[in-house]
Amino acid sequence: MEIIKEYCAKKKLEYKNIAKDIDKKLAIIKVGNNQASERYVRNKLKDCAEAGIKSELIAYPNDIEANIVYNKINELNNNDSVGGFIVQLPLPKQLNEDKIKAMIKPEKDIDGFSPDTKVLAATPNGIYTYLKDQGFEFANKIAIVIGRSKIVGLPMAKKLLAENMTVIQMHSHTTETQKQELIPLADLIVVATGHRHTLTDKYKYKPTAIIMDVGINFNEEGKLCGDCDKNLPVAFQSPVPSGCGLLTRLSLMDNFIKLNTK
Ligand code: NDP
Repeated sequence: MEIIKEYCAKKKLEYKNIAKDIDKKLAIIKVGNNQASERYVRNKLKDCAEAGIKSELIAYPNDIEANIVYNKINELNNNDSVGGFIVQLPLPKQLNEDKIKAMIKPEKDIDGFSPDTKVLAATPNGIYTYLKDQGFEFANKIAIVIGRSKIVGLPMAKKLLAENMTVIQMHSHTTETQKQELIPLADLIVVATGHRHTLTDKYKYKPTAIIMDVGINFNEEGKLCGDCDKNLPVAFQSPVPSGCGLLTRLSLMDNFIKLNTK
């Protein structure tokens, strides 16, 4: 499997070739100055620049009135010069996240969060596209998706099912015994729990298995780490950082291009 960082650099060049014919811009709404969000937004703008996609940042203070943000979303929905936009999460409490997800027009929803989204949610899309580009054959294999959130676990499982994998979805009620029995069967494991040590060497794995670790956590030293312990005995384990986070960012551009090309 290709190093994800190198794969992303290559894909951005591919996108650049397509994006030169797209006149519209990708907009990002950011509210407040959450440290992680600041970094994500900065990186997303940098990605756009590298892929030749025009972008615009709309930044509001943390105590912004909700209606101002809702009005801006309506304006972006109807602005023909905007080909797609995202509202960076998390949001301060005066803003209703579900309402915002439902407000974004599906034709402009590059995160894939809207209930009627026309694209696959960014993280599952990034993981799926990477595996496909690596020549991974989905059909007839067993996948385990750990986590069932609306933005990662559920759409990931649905996509793998559509690719004719046999899919097992685990969640916080999956028992330890069930994990011990099922994990050794998996060809692909996508982990998105938000808990460190979800996968450790106490489980047995297929040596040919692939693990895609979506988790973003911090260890005792304040270092970024995933949901899985490092160096599990499998064929490939995506790193954290420089793994699924990069694929998710790439996906925003992929979804932008999909929504703006015939
Ligand atoms: P949620 O908190 O919405 O969902 C977590 C899921 O994990 C739930 O379905 C929960 O089960 C399940 N779960 C929790 N603990 C366990 C456990 N011990 N065993 C099995 N399942 C468990 O999280 P998200 O899906 O939004 O995000 C997951 C992680 O991925 C987070 O660390 C997040 O920061 C990261 N993330 C990273 C992205 C990236 O770009 N790299 C993008 C999006 C998310 P139940 O439903 O029963 O509660």
